[in-house]
Amino acid sequence: MARLGFRPRLGIANVASTFRIPDVGDRPLRVLAIGCHGDDIEIGCGGTILSLLDARRVDVTWVVLGAADRERAQEAGASAAAFLSGSTNRVVLGAFRDAYMPYEGSAIKDFFAGLPDLVDPDLIFTHYRHDLHQDHRQANELTWQTFRAHSILEYEVPKWDGDLGSPNVYAPLARDVAKRKIDLLMEHFRTQREKDWFSPEVFEALMRLRAMECRAPEGAAEAFYAHKLTLDLT
Ligand SMILES: [Zn+2]
Repeated sequence: MARLGFRPRLGIANVASTFRIPDVGDRPLRVLAIGCHGDDIEIGCGGTILSLLDARRVDVTWVVLGAADRERAQEAGASAAAFLSGSTNRVVLGAFRDAYMPYEGSAIKDFFAGLPDLVDPDLIFTHYRHDLHQDHRQANELTWQTFRAHSILEYEVPKWDGDLGSPNVYAPLARDVAKRKIDLLMEHFRTQREKDWFSPEVFEALMRLRAMECRAPEGAAEAFYAHKLTLDLT
């Protein structure tokens, strides 16, 4: 369950309250990012991870479940390395089959059961529970089954299914971070470029829309769903 500090900005009309990243003292913030396919983490929370890496010491465990074929695995690995450049990190590539993850239930559950041995994360990014892609939903369920006392933020991935919802946590991004995210996506995922939704315009539009909703000063933001939050009242 998320335990985030609460810092209300009282007196500023229509500006949401600010939740702070957990205070971890002198050690690096431990982040676990989970995506089914190479490009999911980048699309959903790539800008947020870039921002965290710019701002503080972060140890990232980056998990892509479906890197079964060689080309997709190479793309996923190269993109993760580019996003995480200069940080301490570990990249874990699974070999689960694209679109069949719910039907590999026991194997994928075993895979998740091993993740706590790799990292005890302060913050987890995973798929949205109402995502219409079956692999994404499977990853969400297993994230919540595996990590029961952790801060979990669910990210969104635009797609033809039309499953975008109303997120409740926003991460404003600097303009240059939003641009870096899009540039890296377009550079590293050549196999995806033929998909009509995989375009700089789509990524830019979603970040612009979320920025409008949270009044992000530089006009870019990523958005998340937090299903459970605990207020720190001290
Ligand atoms: Zn995906």
